Amino acid sequence: MMRLLAVPAFSDNYIWTLVDDDGQAWIVDPGQAGPVFDAIGNALTPVGILLTHHHDDHIGGVPALLERWPGLPVIAPHDARITTATQRVGEGVQVRVSGWTFDVLEIPGHTHSHIAFVGHGHLFCGDTLFGLGCGRLFEGTPMQMLTSLDKLAALPDDTRVCCGHEYTVANAAFATTVDPDNAALRDRQQQVIALRKAGQPTLPSTLGDERVGNPFLRVESPAVRAAIAHRLGREPADRVETFAELRRWKDGFGA
Ligand code: ZN
Ligand code: FE
Repeated sequence: MMRLLAVPAFSDNYIWTLVDDDGQAWIVDPGQAGPVFDAIGNALTPVGILLTHHHDDHIGGVPALLERWPGLPVIAPHDARITTATQRVGEGVQVRVSGWTFDVLEIPGHTHSHIAFVGHGHLFCGDTLFGLGCGRLFEGTPMQMLTSLDKLAALPDDTRVCCGHEYTVANAAFATTVDPDNAALRDRQQQVIALRKAGQPTLPSTLGDERVGNPFLRVESPAVRAAIAHRLGREPADRVETFAELRRWKDGFGA
């Protein structure tokens, strides 16, 4: 059985660490090295590092990790801004290291070279899909981001969603504003508030949960469409416009 550790870093990042029965561990998006050293200790053996995108809060710890574990594979997207990569991967590539397999999906939008890794029932999606939210569009268009989210939404319901940040409570406040009559969403909002009060992560979620509650995966739903139509003062032209306006609304929401 795989064991998943949510290693907290900075104020709201998670460095996901996936461990097998032999104590072999993959480290995803280590923005800092210190929390990884603490989590790995002497019991676990790192087998590789997966990087989803070039932002420093996702890659900043890599040099220090390589100093301690020289030769560790660093799997990263095709992006010259990530200088520590030992292997560059893109859409459709399979990462295979010592019995592990991860499929790579290209999911541009937050950044132009953002990728996700899918394997062993887990999705590592960086800053693209969040618990009840999605990443900001720093380098991509709404159309690109929506296409990327569609790709992730097509994964099985029980896929564990391991995203880069603990934003779920703030995202829930926005989601319930957009989609106030969604009972399953309301239930999840109560759950995630309780988890944070208890000092627990709200993640991983499942893709099934996200499809039910995350407004950015629900741009076709009558409730989300109606909320956007209300803001625009007319029906949105298509799902891309619905998504674009939803993202703009969230940008100004303050949470
Ligand atoms: Zn980012
Ligand atoms: Fe980030």
